[in-house]
Amino acid sequence: VRAVATKIAVPKRDAIDKSDSLYWATSEFVKAQLAGIAKRCVICNAEHPIERLKPTICSNQLCSFQFTSLGLGVDVEREIIRSPEIVDLLICFTAAGTLQPDRFNPFPDVQRRVGKADESFNSNAHLLQTAIVQMPKVADLVQMARDGTLRASLEKLHPLLYLLLRWIVSTTLAHIELLHDKSVPPKFSGLQCQYQFVMRCAAPAREAQFRELCRKHGGSFFVWHGSGLGNWHNIVRFGLKNMSGTAFQSSGAAYGPGIYAAHDSTTSYGYSGNTNNPWMNTMFGAGMRCLALCEVVDYGTKMLCLGKVHRPGCLHSSSSPYFRIEDEDMIVTRLFIVFQAHESANINADQCYSFFKKHLRS
Ligand SMILES: [Zn+2]
Ligand SMILES: [Zn+2]
Repeated sequence: VRAVATKIAVPKRDAIDKSDSLYWATSEFVKAQLAGIAKRCVICNAEHPIERLKPTICSNQLCSFQFTSLGLGVDVEREIIRSPEIVDLLICFTAAGTLQPDRFNPFPDVQRRVGKADESFNSNAHLLQTAIVQMPKVADLVQMARDGTLRASLEKLHPLLYLLLRWIVSTTLAHIELLHDKSVPPKFSGLQCQYQFVMRCAAPAREAQFRELCRKHGGSFFVWHGSGLGNWHNIVRFGLKNMSGTAFQSSGAAYGPGIYAAHDSTTSYGYSGNTNNPWMNTMFGAGMRCLALCEVVDYGTKMLCLGKVHRPGCLHSSSSPYFRIEDEDMIVTRLFIVFQAHESANINADQCYSFFKKHLRS
């Protein structure tokens, strides 16, 4: 959007006479709106406390209703046709999330009037699950979207299914992109996995802050982070968070609070399998697991741990085989890998770093 905004031809100020001032004012306004589209609520134009990665809404309930129930500012059909793999992935996250109701956040607040009654999931994860398991295969959703029958077909299956799908697509704030042989960066041949994605959760201001930390502390390194399928429902909306000590903590914080990560993928792989996927129509098949390749600020050293970024065996947890990132500002997601049941990969994060460093930092 910013690229488009800067290309809008605006006549030079002194080339406009006074009768054109409305044109001038309008074009300036449009330019400013486009450039700052992720800084403001797409419905009411209120400024967000922090810049978001994608255009989205503020916390006002009316904006939430208009965005998720009326679909203002969302084109779910286009997203499905353009990125079927990503839509599939997002449905998996939410479906798996319903298996852990205590940690399921945010809850899809969709509602619809059917006859004289308002239908909603009433914050009941089990009700939500009975709907989401009826979601057809994404290949079928693509066909419905092309035929213009998506909404009618889904509402025949369950009255809230279309709104749920739109909520899932529109509330994901992470930037996710499928890699293939000709993409930039290209798919990494060192990983024997069909589905590799770029995943960025940090808005430009947060990304700039991360770069500044890297610069100040002498660079960065890569680690793997594994988490149960259902936890990604939360991560793609809020980013990686240090959940230790909160109700949202998933694996025990055996070595202290923080986001746990490892150099080799097999260690993190062990953390990625603690939830199932009740939605059987996924293209990834049963038994999928997910790992994120994350970049971490090279803060402190193993011999001199300064806290915030704990390395395996540091003085704070000498028996820990994991990296433990206590300060969530010190870590960002870069790549996201889906391991299908038949795929396994044992790969050191350093190998990925040398491959992706050039592309993922630009
Ligand atoms: Zn708003
Ligand atoms: Zn330490």
